[in-house]
Amino acid sequence: MSAEGHEPQAIRKLARGKLVIASHNEGKVSEMRALLAPYGMDVVSAKELDLPEPVENGTTFFANAEIKARSAADLSGLPSLADDSGLCVDALNGDPGVYTADWAETPTGRDWTLAMRKVQDALAAKEPGTSRSAHFVSVLALAWPDGHVEWFEGRVEGTLADAPRGVEGHGYDPIFVPEGDTRTFAEMPESEKNGISHRADAFRQLVAAVF
Ligand code: IMP
Repeated sequence: MSAEGHEPQAIRKLARGKLVIASHNEGKVSEMRALLAPYGMDVVSAKELDLPEPVENGTTFFANAEIKARSAADLSGLPSLADDSGLCVDALNGDPGVYTADWAETPTGRDWTLAMRKVQDALAAKEPGTSRSAHFVSVLALAWPDGHVEWFEGRVEGTLADAPRGVEGHGYDPIFVPEGDTRTFAEMPESEKNGISHRADAFRQLVAAVF
């Protein structure tokens, strides 16, 4: 079953042993390593194994998470875990969505101030009073070398601040205010954000299912 047409799957337990984190992003790897620490997994990253980064040409978070996890599982012969995530703004029909990282691309690297401004400008072009509601999504894909794959989708709802605030976190954190709070993610200690984030939500589901 491909991610594009994914549906609830039979859950397979994950045996203790080696697990590849299919990412070259140090921040993601260290966050996922910390989340997996209590479960006795021997974690190694795709970068440490010198695995290539596959092209993320899917049109959904599920597809892109699967592409990364499957590539690492096929090349390493080990179960592999990948995350694909992004910011979805309701008034922008879910954009930037799977293209969240692309909105930050410049010829000299990713510029998150620019990416946040693009989101703010797109909202400002809408009618006055347009909803600023948004959510972050994280889809985790866990792929085994025999072709089996499972997905776990986490979300955190919130609204977009009028201007960036705070210095913690990364990406779009300075403009995202999670539901039930007045601070942006970038105004919270990392440990607090990591307790309520979309990735934490997806991880809770993964842990409940496979350990
Ligand atoms: P990916 O590596 O293709 O999954 O890119 C996801 C992008 O979404 C990241 O580069 C971030 O810009 C953005 N993103 C995902 N999670 C967060 C978050 O927790 N805070 C801020 N931005 C995020």
